[in-house]
Amino acid sequence: MPSQSEADAKDGVGSTGSLFDAVVIGTGFGGAVAACRLTQAGKNVCVLERGRRYDRGDFPRPAVRPDHLPHTARWAWALDYGMWDVKDLQGTLAVQVAGYGGGSLGYANVHLRAPQAAFAPPTRHGPEADGWPAIYSRAELDPYYDVAAAALRVRPIPSTFIPTALVAAPLPKVVAMQGAARSLGREPWLFLPPLAIDFDTCVMCGECIAGCQFHAKNTLDLNYLAVAERLGADVRTLAEVLDIRDDGHEDGYIVTYHDHVTGDAAATVRARSVFLCAGSVSSTHLLLRSKDHVGMAEASRPNVGRRFFVNGDAIAMVYDTVPSPTPTRGPTIATSLLYNNRSLDLTGTRGDWFMIQDGGYPKWLEPVLGLLRADLWLQRNRIAANRGGRTVDRDAAARDTAAIGDLTERTTRAILGLLDARRAYHDPSRAGVIASRFGLPQKDDARSSAQGLGIADVLPPQIRRILEQARMQAHVVENREAEALSGKTVEELTYRLVNIGIHEPFPDGPLQPVPPDLAEQFRQQVVEPHRLIATLEAINQYFLDIPRGVAEPFTAAILWRLAVRLAKQILLGERPNDHAFLMLVMGIDAAPGQLYLDEEQRLLAYWDRAANARLATMQERLMHDIAGALEGELRLNPDATVRQRPVTVHNLGGCAMSDRPEDGVTDPNGKVWGTRALYVLDGAAMPGSLGANPSATIAAIAERNVRKALADRHSPIHAPTPVPLDPPLPGGPSLAEIRQRYGQTPAVLDPIAQVTTPAREPDAKAIGLTFKEVMQGFYASAPGGNLSIRADLVATIDDLSAFLVDPRRPVAITGTVRLAPAPGQPEVEYTARGTLDLLRRVDAATALRALFDEGVERLKRLQELRDQARSTPYLEPARKDAEDAMESLLRRLENTTHRYEMDYVLDLVPVGGAAPTVDRLVGVKKIYGGPGLAPWTETTTLHVTLYDRQQPAGAGEMHVHIADLLRTQLPSFEITGAGGDDVRIAWAFARFFRFFLGTLRQVYLPHLAMIDPFAQGAR
Ligand SMILES: Cc1cc2nc3c(=O)[nH]c(=O)nc-3n(C[C@H](O)[C@H](O)[C@H](O)COP(=O)(O)OP(=O)(O)OC[C@H]3O[C@@H](n4cnc5c(N)ncnc54)[C@H](O)[C@@H]3O)c2cc1C
Ligand code: SF4
Repeated sequence: MPSQSEADAKDGVGSTGSLFDAVVIGTGFGGAVAACRLTQAGKNVCVLERGRRYDRGDFPRPAVRPDHLPHTARWAWALDYGMWDVKDLQGTLAVQVAGYGGGSLGYANVHLRAPQAAFAPPTRHGPEADGWPAIYSRAELDPYYDVAAAALRVRPIPSTFIPTALVAAPLPKVVAMQGAARSLGREPWLFLPPLAIDFDTCVMCGECIAGCQFHAKNTLDLNYLAVAERLGADVRTLAEVLDIRDDGHEDGYIVTYHDHVTGDAAATVRARSVFLCAGSVSSTHLLLRSKDHVGMAEASRPNVGRRFFVNGDAIAMVYDTVPSPTPTRGPTIATSLLYNNRSLDLTGTRGDWFMIQDGGYPKWLEPVLGLLRADLWLQRNRIAANRGGRTVDRDAAARDTAAIGDLTERTTRAILGLLDARRAYHDPSRAGVIASRFGLPQKDDARSSAQGLGIADVLPPQIRRILEQARMQAHVVENREAEALSGKTVEELTYRLVNIGIHEPFPDGPLQPVPPDLAEQFRQQVVEPHRLIATLEAINQYFLDIPRGVAEPFTAAILWRLAVRLAKQILLGERPNDHAFLMLVMGIDAAPGQLYLDEEQRLLAYWDRAANARLATMQERLMHDIAGALEGELRLNPDATVRQRPVTVHNLGGCAMSDRPEDGVTDPNGKVWGTRALYVLDGAAMPGSLGANPSATIAAIAERNVRKALADRHSPIHAPTPVPLDPPLPGGPSLAEIRQRYGQTPAVLDPIAQVTTPAREPDAKAIGLTFKEVMQGFYASAPGGNLSIRADLVATIDDLSAFLVDPRRPVAITGTVRLAPAPGQPEVEYTARGTLDLLRRVDAATALRALFDEGVERLKRLQELRDQARSTPYLEPARKDAEDAMESLLRRLENTTHRYEMDYVLDLVPVGGAAPTVDRLVGVKKIYGGPGLAPWTETTTLHVTLYDRQQPAGAGEMHVHIADLLRTQLPSFEITGAGGDDVRIAWAFARFFRFFLGTLRQVYLPHLAMIDPFAQGAR
């Protein structure tokens, strides 16, 4: 076999100008299948892959000896075309693999079929199109899933995992996950997914995501791509495609690539067809740059980049578990726990379908994953309290003896929670600007107001100052703590160095004692000079979105503590932490994002945080429950909690398949609308989120669509003889033989279909909010005068996230209504049950019409009064009043864009069997805006109509009295389902009041510039 550099050098030098039947760009699950089937059909194929080849034992690893430099270049694409390509797309952080074999080199081998529900048909068309082309279903794809599973030699995980153990033992992390599922009553939904691993070769080292040094992973270079090469494919690695053009001739596709072997020279190949398979992010990027030169249909060009999905990805660690899951042992993923709240509509915007899988990792990756626990995040990503009350906060217990009191700690965390909530629901106007600038689908107004304005925007300046001081105090506390601990760690390090010595110069040299004053020297010479403000600023900016010029809260003390902790882990050679558990989550996104190019042609992603908030909340809750069952501390991904963006390894979409050019980028067979023979056959073509790990579906759809391309008589690569499904790989065993040999039963291949999900999740309760409201007033029934009426209500929002993204803002209300049925008669009490639409936005056109009608009525009245006033002077004041009212009406007309209503509908049943005089109360608070006391009067005045058997039985007004507001309503606000966790409670309150007060601010102070006490120059 040629060496790495020899192989790359041979491959990379392209024969510029050669003519091929097809060029395949990328060698992941789409590209490998395409290359294999095209060559199998006798086509002359060129494969261009930007990454390197990785042979057995050749994947990058940390240095094995201290005198070896780690081969960092081969790790990172950005450094020297290495394996990992992590792209900061601002809205998301996309993690991809570059190399011959694409994602298969670094993936976790899970081979799952997507659930039928993922292939939902469209419900919308045009720029907001959704759903899959009509032809797609599990029945359509199953034959292709079968062939992909056979080609990749997928098989069940063996029941005992540790072949070298004296007694065959199950994997500790499987045992831990099974125990957690059992104690949460979720065992029926836990399964072991099939893996594309040869378990006879696998040594259970947990290094799958870094590339398997033993070739136990059935990566694409070992099967599909090996066949393509054997059949004559011209494979060029380190060949990064820059541009695709169609010059209009039958052989007219010109693909330009950067040849990283020869240097900067751009090389080209010509072909009759192009198969774009560079992965969701890169394929979309390439098509965004090339869409005007490939003959693409006008109608579908704006769709390139739309419908981008992160597949519900999330990640979290549990530390200090009581059982020892030992994540460094076994394949990366071995279990999968399904969550499917079927009471919700999977095809709509609220699909709650996700899975949590255990994550393994090599010991040397521990310091990196330890970053989730780093002090850098000021504990923002920490959720220690647990509903079961079993989570032991060991860190906090230790800290109790230190300077920080429990109260300060709790307050600090609550304040930080509030600050994070502020960031979570950012300025909607900015989202609007971005949307219009880049032609993104505009969010409906109701939703953007859910993203809301901040408490900071509506708080008086004094309160803002207090908040600011509290924030500073929080950081001072953190810094003090960090200083104390870092000192201790340095002492410990010094003790070890002085008493044990260090190896000089390298491991085989003698041990040398070091001077006892090392710690002091180290502090003075190394630490102090490096308190670089610029570094702190950069970190602030990156991690916390804090404006340039702010060098706190990350003082050197915090960074120092972090560095020392890392050093301690690396230098003192701590044992692997067996009491840790990594969780990898994926699901069906509730709403898509978009990939787009900014003015500088950089690829960025927009991600709809608000619409996906509910899914994220449900995922976090189940992770929290698992952490509780393992009796450990949950640390969420700080990038998600602090920066409010997903990190995804399952990028999907951007070049969506569709039934009509207006709805997507390619036809249902992956051919780009309008082009002669440009196909997208990778993850980019997925028109929706899959929920499951996506590689099996990408491969199955590529198996289907490459055959459709070859079967197409009008295509320049038409092949009269179809490529068979059996045998799965030419020259290999048949489907039946593979099934038998590797135990590929339907239950093994499709465990999701076997898991019967509950009608309702055992604990689908989300974070909610309750409050009381008391209103009193009068109504007039037909015969009588004013009669008293009073309502004592409890409002309940079960799920705050769902509430915020639902334009109706539905709230359940229960309570009592007492009213006098007739003058002089005693009050009758009714139980009341119904709904309140809290701050439902009134359609501006309807509002204008209502105001207009009101204006016409008033004009008529005014005219009558004028006529009468001429003859009856005592009517003059009434005329004046009517004119003033008209004036104010005109002012309100000017400002009708922000109008809301609170609609109450209550069914009334008399208590104790009394005869009812009414059976329904319908009320509305009109939040229409106005000067002076309007905010108070409008939010506290309910215009009521009473009904009896659908006939009006009275009308009047009720009010919230200030005493009831202060005594009953304000103290009654309570967050439910947060398990007593201060951070969550603070976060939830902030989200609600941010929405509520922010909306009122839009109505009553529409011209108030955004005031942000944390913005640059605002202090
Ligand atoms: C850490 C990790 C673990 C994962 N685990 C699983 C799992 O267990 N199961 C699962 O189903 N999925 C998993 N995935 C996801 C899976 O790897 C991807 O969904 C899958 O690889 C996507 O296939 P693709 O064909 O769309 O693109 P990719 O596999 O990403 O292949 C694209 C290829 O195109 C190349 N390329 C990109 N741009 C260019 C260019 N301009 N010119 C030439 N070549 C280019 C890339 O280098 C790459 O080789 C994981 C992903 C990661 C990162
Ligand atoms: S655990 Fe993963 S990396 Fe280790 S041998 Fe098995 S397949 Fe290879």
